[in-house]
Amino acid sequence: MLGSTGSIGTNALDVLSRLSDRFHVVGLAARSRRDTLFAQAEQFRPEWVALVGESADRSGLLPGVEFLSQSDAVARRVQARDVDIVVSAIVGAAGLRCTWAALEAGKTVALANKETLVVAGPLVMELAAARGGRLLPVDSEHSAIFQAIADRPAGVERVVLTGSGGPFRGRTAADLAHVTVDEALAHPTWRMGPKITVDSATLMNKALEVIEARWLFGLSPKQIDVIIHPESMIHSFVEFVDGSVLAQISPPDMRLPIQYALTYPERLPCPARRVNWHELTAFHFEAPDRATFPALDLGYEVASRGGTTGAVLNAANEMAVEAFLENRLPFPEIARVCRAVLDAHDFDPRPTLDGLLAADHWARQEVRRWTSLNPSRL
Ligand code: NAD
Ligand code: MG
Repeated sequence: MLGSTGSIGTNALDVLSRLSDRFHVVGLAARSRRDTLFAQAEQFRPEWVALVGESADRSGLLPGVEFLSQSDAVARRVQARDVDIVVSAIVGAAGLRCTWAALEAGKTVALANKETLVVAGPLVMELAAARGGRLLPVDSEHSAIFQAIADRPAGVERVVLTGSGGPFRGRTAADLAHVTVDEALAHPTWRMGPKITVDSATLMNKALEVIEARWLFGLSPKQIDVIIHPESMIHSFVEFVDGSVLAQISPPDMRLPIQYALTYPERLPCPARRVNWHELTAFHFEAPDRATFPALDLGYEVASRGGTTGAVLNAANEMAVEAFLENRLPFPEIARVCRAVLDAHDFDPRPTLDGLLAADHWARQEVRRWTSLNPSRL
């Protein structure tokens, strides 16, 4: 379980706590919330626990549980014989390394970390195919599509990703100039980690999901649409060549797509909230406001250009979101920085993994330069 102390990680462990007759947690990895991590170790009795990038102090950890503090060690452990499924729920491009290691060893990966596919989609899909590994989507939209396609991708004409529109749906560009971090973190329908919550407010999350869908399902960007659906009950649509449209519907609760990835192809009772048919009144839809939320178009651009653009967009966005969260960058600058860094980058249409990591590194430097040249106007 990679990213065990985060929003997806804790939801995934909640699911697993009810399926203890089927699953044993082999290892838990996180970078923060030591107390939570060590409490998880008490509850799930894994063989190892990793707290990377923090002090190697293991006091308070259950005796007999091995303690790791390096990502390298985690990458080796996910390849072990007794690991069948790796839940990839680290946030950001930091999740790529261990996801890659798991696929190298032919593991099944329950993938929440969409950044892995944004940065290196073609290489990751090639690796999974070559080593017999499998990527099962956890992201709710991609799980919805996966459930609707039911392993028969022939005959898909298009997919329509739904998005809540985030906390700033209906605002104008002028309104967005002065929004605060707290406002951006107040998501109307989902409780998630801070990075993806800000991505939902800029619509960058939907942009990343367009790219994720492109590689995961082998679709062209023209086959991927986005529609705003504020209730977050319909998690996406699949339209087939005969005009039939299938949707997956459930209240916004990540435990359902997490469990589906873990138990696929089986369906089992799940703790996720259920549709309340007596309270259900209407589903609403509207077109995304691409002028006010320009991040979405960046997703389409990257989905069609490929190459190094995904690594660059993702890294620039991670850095810009971090700066916004630290009150060093106004909200509208997030998409603006990403646009500028994409434009300035040295495009390589067929990069290697090292080339992608170099592009990621370069883009982070560029944003550092940008934020120091353009000090916060907040
Ligand atoms: P989060 O910030 O709540 O949790 C991230 C977890 O990763 C934490 O446990 C953190 O300690 C750990 N982590 C960070 N860097 C690490 C590193 N280098 N090594 C090991 N552990 C590290 O984030 P989240 O909301 O749970 O999101 C996780 C991923 O799932 C993201 O890629 C996000 O886009 C995706 N996702 C999340 C949701 C959601 O509902 N939260 C929905 C769809 C997709
Ligand atoms: Mg999603």
